[in-house]
Amino acid sequence: MVGSVLRPNTSDRECMIPPIANNFVAGEDPATAIDHVRACNRDGVGGILNLLGEHYSERPPADADTQAYIDLIADLAAADVSGCVSVKPSQIGLDVGVDVFEENLASIVEAGQQHGRFVWIDMEDHTTTDVTLDAFENHARGTDGDVGLCVQANLKRTREDVERLADLPGKVRFVKGAYDEPADIAHKDKAAVDAAYRELLEFAFREFDGGIGVGSHDPAMIDYAADLHAEYGTDYEVQMLMGVREDAQRDLAADGVPTYQYIPYGGKWMSYFYRRLRERKENAFFALRAIVGQ
Ligand code: FAD
Repeated sequence: MVGSVLRPNTSDRECMIPPIANNFVAGEDPATAIDHVRACNRDGVGGILNLLGEHYSERPPADADTQAYIDLIADLAAADVSGCVSVKPSQIGLDVGVDVFEENLASIVEAGQQHGRFVWIDMEDHTTTDVTLDAFENHARGTDGDVGLCVQANLKRTREDVERLADLPGKVRFVKGAYDEPADIAHKDKAAVDAAYRELLEFAFREFDGGIGVGSHDPAMIDYAADLHAEYGTDYEVQMLMGVREDAQRDLAADGVPTYQYIPYGGKWMSYFYRRLRERKENAFFALRAIVGQ
């Protein structure tokens, strides 16, 4: 189930995000998002903050979000919470130019190094996979593993990519894949994606030295990761979205599994919130129930 209670607006700060949406988005400003990380930490859950924004075709907004991440990293360190960041390539300039993306990512990674904060790179659609992998490889080597990359089980190429990643420092987050990709390069059937996800996990637990992020809400995949950990002893963590199976997040953390919540925040919350509602009828039902006050 999605969170069983409506999240109250506990922050003293004015929250412009209506109750309902604030189950999935932490707030509009970084201070409110960091308050949410602090609340997660009290349950033993770490935070992965994502400033909402993507596909900028001009450089100024890409640079502005890059600066926002740099400031956020300093704020996370000053707040002394267990939290890191996750950035989207198209948010920091990939659609403007590969050089812009690389320059901005380097600034964010440098801030991460300066303040001891991990930097995740989200994976977007298949047209961005190569450049994102290359950027990750560069920073994984350059920071000796203080960066992470997301890979998508729905893409047929990912098994080969993961073989390349096995030799690199850093972490890899495994997800099923959120983008509607062409059938010649992607598994379209849910069962095939699930099978590919299991194969990737099995390979990673067998071949990686650690640094496996299980980015899934699927109880079957979480259980499978626990079985693989028991078999191979490889370290891993579970990552889930804010507002999704939060009871499970707390239970995993209480059981000693490193658990992180991916926490979106920022002014561009509306489209993210509607995506969450569209994705599962339970989410829409939950929102409706909140509106009618049951
Ligand atoms: P699904 O196959 O969607 O669902 C399987 C089962 O999980 C369901 O039957 C149900 O039991 C449970 N479940 C799933 N959703 C819910 C829910 N809302 N409420 C209750 N139970 C639920 N995708 C990318 O392409 N790039 C990224 O960079 C990226 N980063 C991500 C980061 C994190 C931390 C997470 C969790 C996901 C990320 N994704 C990313 C999205 C991902 O690709 C999937 O689209 C998404 O996680 C849904 O797949 P799933 O594995 O959770 O399970």
